[in-house]
Amino acid sequence: MTGTTTPHPPSAPLRARAEIDLAALRANVRALRAHAPKAQLMAVVKSDAYGHGAVPCARAALEAGAAWLGTATPEEALALRAAGLPGRLMCWLWTPGGPWQEAVEADVDVSVSGLWALREVTGAAARAGVRARVHLKADTGLGRSGCQPHDWPELVAAALRAEADGLIRVVGLWSHFACADEPGHPSVAAQLTRFREMVAHAEERGVRPEVRHIANSPATLTLPEAHFDLVRTGISLYGISPSPEVGTPADFGLRPVMTLSASLALVKHVPGGHGVSYGHHYTTPGATTLGLVPVGYADGIPRHASGTGPVLVAGKWRTVAGRIAMDQFVVDLGGDEPPVGARAVLFGPGDAGEPTAEDWAKAAGTIAYEVVTRIGTRVPRVYTDNGDLQGSVDAAV
Ligand SMILES: *Cc1c(COP(=O)(O)O)cnc(C)c1O
Repeated sequence: MTGTTTPHPPSAPLRARAEIDLAALRANVRALRAHAPKAQLMAVVKSDAYGHGAVPCARAALEAGAAWLGTATPEEALALRAAGLPGRLMCWLWTPGGPWQEAVEADVDVSVSGLWALREVTGAAARAGVRARVHLKADTGLGRSGCQPHDWPELVAAALRAEADGLIRVVGLWSHFACADEPGHPSVAAQLTRFREMVAHAEERGVRPEVRHIANSPATLTLPEAHFDLVRTGISLYGISPSPEVGTPADFGLRPVMTLSASLALVKHVPGGHGVSYGHHYTTPGATTLGLVPVGYADGIPRHASGTGPVLVAGKWRTVAGRIAMDQFVVDLGGDEPPVGARAVLFGPGDAGEPTAEDWAKAAGTIAYEVVTRIGTRVPRVYTDNGDLQGSVDAAV
């Protein structure tokens, strides 16, 4: 979660800012619902909404028609409740001794992958005097959390006993894909088949789920037969494609939500042959100008993009010159002289000529999920709506 919202003149210059376009996020929710018209939509807002700010993004997603919110950890879910977020809210990453009772009392749906978790949630429900809403998770092939097929009958039977005892209600049967971002990967069809079998087994034994769900963003965008009753969309909400193989955001009517920019902290002339930044991995090829961009790996700028990351400054793409340091990096401006304070745009929607988070992912050898999610708490999130700054900065510092 980001910290407190502090009043801040919207036009004030900032070292760096991540503008979060809530109108784009709402439009993305509507576009995703159109891709999965028969299913409900869960807005996945884990990890501070992939770095975009969980509370404002969750609110905007609900306003645009998301019926559910989803987080990884129970702490993230409880923080959303504490902030007043209503409606269906599910979390799935539990460890023994987790806040089961707090979750049940806060009306949070929980995931159960095994008998130990079922014991903990039934105990918490008994103490709270409230029926817990449980989603049984099947490992259909991802090999991460979820119940293996050979353990499923025992878990289903135990859950049905807890339901008969009035302690839980099994409201969901669910799973997660390993390779949905590689359309046509044979594991996708295999996982779907396994999921149908495991759902059928549970239903034959008497489970009556409200929702069966397996689709993440790539499956929501490319695989209608995986939509079932609910789709769980994360990265696509933020206007980013799950992978280049799936397509571009524009292919699906999605628009990137985050624009990351900084104000140049220095512009200066240097002679040719001048080393730049730690280790001198860049040397100016001739007399040139350098611009200092005051963000670094402490702000989540990937150090692996040293020498490769693109930045739009004064109408042109520049490339990170030398190493990205903790708090700053340098771009070679090739003799151009933008004023100190000029805006350097690292990434955004791309339609004003700036790079995208996907471009940074390529430069750093990672995925765009990681690029946006790691933008640090030292970078204020500035929320905009239909292009208007909202007049507050969520500065988690
Ligand atoms: C993160 C996550 C999602 C969302 O995945 P995207 O690819 O970002 O849409 C869905 N379900 C689970 C279980 C997750 O952990």
